[in-house]
Amino acid sequence: MLRCPICGREYEDHGKMRCDCGEPLEFEPFRGRTHTGKSVWERFREFLPVEPDLNLSLGEGDTPLVKSRLGKELGVRLYLKNETTNPTWSFKDRGTFLGILAAIRFGYRNVGTVSTGNMAASVAAYAARAGLKAHILVPSSIAPEKVRQIAVYAPWIIKVEGPYGELYYKSLEAGEKEGIYFINSDNPFRIEGYKTISFEIAEEMSPDYVIVPTSSGGLIRGIIKGFLELRNSGLVEELPTFIAVQAEGCSPIHRAFIEGKNRVERFKNPHTVAHAIENPYPPSGNAVLKLLRETGGFTAAVNDREILKAREELACEGLFVQPASATGIAAVKRLVEEGKIEKGSKVVSVLTGSGLKTLPATGPGKVRGCRLEELEDCLKTTGG
Ligand SMILES: *Cc1c(COP(=O)(O)O)cnc(C)c1O
Ligand SMILES: [Zn+2]
Repeated sequence: MLRCPICGREYEDHGKMRCDCGEPLEFEPFRGRTHTGKSVWERFREFLPVEPDLNLSLGEGDTPLVKSRLGKELGVRLYLKNETTNPTWSFKDRGTFLGILAAIRFGYRNVGTVSTGNMAASVAAYAARAGLKAHILVPSSIAPEKVRQIAVYAPWIIKVEGPYGELYYKSLEAGEKEGIYFINSDNPFRIEGYKTISFEIAEEMSPDYVIVPTSSGGLIRGIIKGFLELRNSGLVEELPTFIAVQAEGCSPIHRAFIEGKNRVERFKNPHTVAHAIENPYPPSGNAVLKLLRETGGFTAAVNDREILKAREELACEGLFVQPASATGIAAVKRLVEEGKIEKGSKVVSVLTGSGLKTLPATGPGKVRGCRLEELEDCLKTTGG
């Protein structure tokens, strides 16, 4: 059964994506036990709305939880859930996998999404894996290098002129008519896939805070739903405090939260280096506000300078992420300073996507040249 998290209306049709009131639908909470198994899909299969057919898996999930050196300086125990190791280098693969299985179960031969980045690549890759046809809707202004990252999986890429913000809703309408299952940012099956991040974290530790870079709101909804189900099943005792992080240059959820509102408003003139989280009118915004209020969570926003600095610091300990994914670390620093995260607490920040997708524009780094016969002298100058 699907339920509206805002008005509570229920629907039998698992293919429906949004409530008649306009809000995103979600599966009723699951309760269950865990099993043994190599993949998170097997261990937590009782919590999934669809049988996980591992023949169509590309090895998504079961990502490393790495202890960060940055925590020491800040006086917290900081862990990084490294989602850059997923098959298409972002957490989107967890949700796409279940979305593709749903499409197959409903009998679709065609799937689609609306995205210029990680979700586009993810849906195209999993459609290729499953032998489905993919239709990726992008704005006509998309940069050529972004098209190339999607095109490698050979989907149809449809450049749409007109307001990009409306494409999400328009795609659902058109998909219904044309027989294309759209696995957009907060598709109910996608949210269920994201829960597995929480399951994996809980298998290793019990965090006090979980920090989530937030755009449409799908990821944090999945993560919170995952922990709620673990608690309702008696598998964890306490919920962590959830923190939704946005870039200051596009922070509609943060703004609504601090203003005490329960509805997001469209953010005017969005501008940030964190393009992967630049959704000015998040389709799950209202649902996120409600969940944060109900669970005692809160929001934060960080500026581009903080984001790029955090990205560099992560690289200095061997982790290369997208600017969007560095927002979590920038937020931890700020929130510890402000006393909103207590010293000594256990903090998990989700590294949502790989830095290779957006190489930094900064200089060439520490480079030195020499002739072959001068190599030893050269190595002396580099401190060898
Ligand atoms: C999609 C994405 C997010 C945000 O996820 P939402 O579900 O849209 O809130 C964060 N970081 C990266 C790298 C992403 O690709
Ligand atoms: Zn509703």
